[in-house]
Amino acid sequence: MKFVDEFRDPEMAKNALDRIHALVKEIPKAQQQPLQIMEVCGGHTHSIFRYGLEELLPKEIELVHGPGCPVCVLPMGRVDDCVAIAEQPDVIFTTFGDAMRVPGSKKSLQDAKAAGCDVRMVYSPMDALNIARQHPDKRVVFFGLGFETTMPSTALTIKQAEKEGIENFYLFCNHVTIIPTIKAILDSPDMYIDGFLGPGHVSMVIGEAPYRFIAASYQRPLIIAGFEPLDVLQSLVMLLEQLRDGKAEIENQYKRIVPDGGNHAALKAVGEIFELREFFEWRGLGSIDHSGVQIKAAYARFDAEREFALPNVNIADPKSCQCGEVLKGVIKPWQCKVFGKQCTPETPLGALMVSTEGACSAYYSYGKINHQQLDR
Ligand code: SF4
Repeated sequence: MKFVDEFRDPEMAKNALDRIHALVKEIPKAQQQPLQIMEVCGGHTHSIFRYGLEELLPKEIELVHGPGCPVCVLPMGRVDDCVAIAEQPDVIFTTFGDAMRVPGSKKSLQDAKAAGCDVRMVYSPMDALNIARQHPDKRVVFFGLGFETTMPSTALTIKQAEKEGIENFYLFCNHVTIIPTIKAILDSPDMYIDGFLGPGHVSMVIGEAPYRFIAASYQRPLIIAGFEPLDVLQSLVMLLEQLRDGKAEIENQYKRIVPDGGNHAALKAVGEIFELREFFEWRGLGSIDHSGVQIKAAYARFDAEREFALPNVNIADPKSCQCGEVLKGVIKPWQCKVFGKQCTPETPLGALMVSTEGACSAYYSYGKINHQQLDR
């Protein structure tokens, strides 16, 4: 299949792996302790486990699964807010499918639907707007979720609603932005990351320039990476070459998709509708300044946070849930006490087990789980 098979060629993968194994031997630090390499995006986490790449890497590399799965970093309190909106009698609550099962403190959106709320799965914000057109007697709320990848389509939907004068459409905005989050990781005293595989889809929108501070101020390399197995392996080769040579640069392995300057039309739409929030709460990472966006005052009438009275309470994760430690790379998913026992993709306790891009779900689905270890 064109543009897929070429990136899954076993011979080329073997060559890349040989190169990776040779390169780590040339990096002095890797001889003392494993290099900590964070794949920022949940799409990379999924690919790494789906294709068994982690097992093929040398012991000198430790992959840290980053915060780039928007469902996984959603705190419980925001899920409770969704449920509170959905429970209003005149509301149709619309959401992407993987957000349906994220546990809130009492219930998920799926539970709310089972209890009789009108919660509907949609594939795009435009689907939600269409529902609003069809049901002028209802308040239709779209659960806006995701990084810069999905922000433009939400922004364009708000613009379309404004253009058509649709008055029963609202956005519950939970869009987040990746750059302050990477900065928070770099500033965290708990974590030391030697280099990053940068998010391919987000970069398609924002381009290369926003990452330059990582090299300039923190002296760490970042490779914008594609999602096929050879993309990931080639990006690791590029990263290791920089570490061997003592360089810290931003490079783009995913040039077939990511233009240097990003997508100007998408950025313009985002800038028109959204502004940065002062801070946003992340599951496992706490509050990060300027890491979320909200609707600008000019479009306030579409803002669900103004339309509905929300609980808006910070809820701590259950004690048994170690999502935060997994997100920070402090433990591996299978080291969480409830992994594969109380917490499975069918019965997720934590958000990392819900989305296919979540590290726990990827480990569970594709990793070689040691069941004896789990039984202990
Ligand atoms: S196993 Fe479940 S509770 Fe534990 S870290 Fe993973 S998602 Fe969170």
